[in-house]
Amino acid sequence: MDALVIGAGLAGVTAAWELSQSGHTVTVLDRQPEAAAETSYANAGLIATGHAMPWASPKVPGILLKSLFTADQAYRLRPRLDWHMMCWGLSFLRQCTNRRAAENTAHAYRLCRYAQSRLHQVTEQARLNYDSRRGGLLYVFRSDSALREGVKHREIIKDMGHEIRVLTVDEVVEREPAFAQSTGQIAGAVYCPTDESGDARLFSLQLAEACRKQGVRFVFDCAVDRLVVENNRVKCLSTASGERDADIYVLASGVEAPRLTRPIGIDLPIYPVKGYSVTFPVGQDHHAPSIGGVDEDRLIAFSRLGDRLRVTSTAEIAGYDVSYKPADFDHMIEVFSALMPDAADYGRPEYWSCLRPMTPNGRPFVGSSRYDNLYLNVGHGNMGWTMACGTARLLADAIDGKDAELPMQAPILR
Ligand SMILES: Cc1cc2nc3c(=O)[nH]c(=O)nc-3n(C[C@H](O)[C@H](O)[C@H](O)COP(=O)(O)OP(=O)(O)OC[C@H]3O[C@@H](n4cnc5c(N)ncnc54)[C@H](O)[C@@H]3O)c2cc1C
Repeated sequence: MDALVIGAGLAGVTAAWELSQSGHTVTVLDRQPEAAAETSYANAGLIATGHAMPWASPKVPGILLKSLFTADQAYRLRPRLDWHMMCWGLSFLRQCTNRRAAENTAHAYRLCRYAQSRLHQVTEQARLNYDSRRGGLLYVFRSDSALREGVKHREIIKDMGHEIRVLTVDEVVEREPAFAQSTGQIAGAVYCPTDESGDARLFSLQLAEACRKQGVRFVFDCAVDRLVVENNRVKCLSTASGERDADIYVLASGVEAPRLTRPIGIDLPIYPVKGYSVTFPVGQDHHAPSIGGVDEDRLIAFSRLGDRLRVTSTAEIAGYDVSYKPADFDHMIEVFSALMPDAADYGRPEYWSCLRPMTPNGRPFVGSSRYDNLYLNVGHGNMGWTMACGTARLLADAIDGKDAELPMQAPILR
C-alpha cells in the first residue's frame, strides 16, 4: 500500500522504517528541513526501561501545586485560560492514584522492554551508529529515604523481570568513577544494567538515510494543514504545496497531533509538556560520566553522547511555547555542575527546549483510529526514545492486520 507518514521525528522515522520493511511504499512529510528537528532533537538520550514509571502518581499533584509558588521546581505548572490544558490536567489528575499508577507502570514497562529489543534489531538491520552505550543506567538518590522510595517505586518492574541492583555510594563510584566528584551529595543509586543511552537525533537521521536506501521518500519543509476526510476515510492531506493522497495515512506529528485530528472529530488527550536540554563539550581532561542516568531528587537526566554531555530537566505545563533564554537553564546547570564539577566544559552550553507529547496516563496512541485508513503513532511523552522502535513495529502489525507481538491496551480516551 501507499503510505503517507506525517512527521519525521522518532515516531515517524521508525514507522517509515517498519512500514517499508513490511513492503509498503512510504512517503514521509515534515514541516522542518530535516528529520528529528523538534522534540527528538536533543532529548536526554536515555533508553530508560528501568524508569518506565509514568509521571502521573499520587505525589505529583502536590509538587505541581508547590510549583505555583516556587520557581526552581522540576515540575512547573503555568496555568492559563486554555480549555485543552484544563481537560488534559483533569485527566492527568485522575491518573494520580496508586492503582492507576501501578497499571500504567506495568503497561509502560512491557512496551519499553519490547521496544528496547526492537531497537537492537533495527540498529543491527540498518547498521546504525548513534553514540550508543549499553553499560546500564544509574538512578541516583540524595538521601537514604529517597533511595528506599526509589527502590519501592521499582518493585513492579522488578517483579516483571527487570534487573535492578541497589548500590551504596562506594559501589556507585566503582561503577561510574565520575561520581567521585559528588562526595557527600548522594546516598546511593539504583543501577539497571540493561538500560542504555544514545543520541536520538543521530539515530533518526541515520535511520532516515537507511529508509531512503529502501526507497522511502522524505518531503521536508512541507507542513500539513488539514486532513480531508470523506465517508469515514481520509481522502487526502492538504499541504502548503497542494494536496497529497495515499492508501493509508500515519499520524506521527508529536505534540501537533491533536491540532490535526480535532477538526475531524478525534480529540486526542495529548498536551505539550516543555523540557529544557543543554549539551556541553567534553575534552580530554574532563571526568565525564560514561554511564547516563537521572539525579532522581532533582529530576535531572544526563547522558554521555560521544564527546558531549547532555543534561536535561523540567516538565513545564505552559502551552506550545518553545522559546527559551539562557537564564532558564541556570538552576539545572548549577545543580548538575555542583554534582559533577569536572564533567564537561560548562562554559560552552548548547541550549534547546522542546515539548513532550504527553498523554495523561503515559500511554501512546498506536494503531487504528475511527477513520478506516488513518493510523496513529503519537503521544510518546517523556519516553518516546525508549518506546519508538516498539510502537513502530506494533503500528506496522496493526496496519498489516497481524497479531501484535505485544497487546496494546486501549488508551483511555475522554
Ligand atoms: C527534555 C526532554 C528529554 C527527554 N528525554 C528522553 C529520554 O531520555 N528518553 C526517552 O525515551 N524519551 C525522552 N524524551 C521524550 C522523547 O524525546 C519524545 O517522546 C519523542 O522525541 C517524541 O517523538 P515524536 O516523533 O512523537 O515527536 P517529534 O520528534 O516532535 O516529531 C514530530 C514531527 O512532526 C512534525 N510535524 C508536526 N506537525 C506537523 C504538520 N502539521 N505537518 C508536517 N509535519 C509536522 C514536526 O516537525 C516533527 O518533526 C525527552 C523529551 C524531552 C523534551
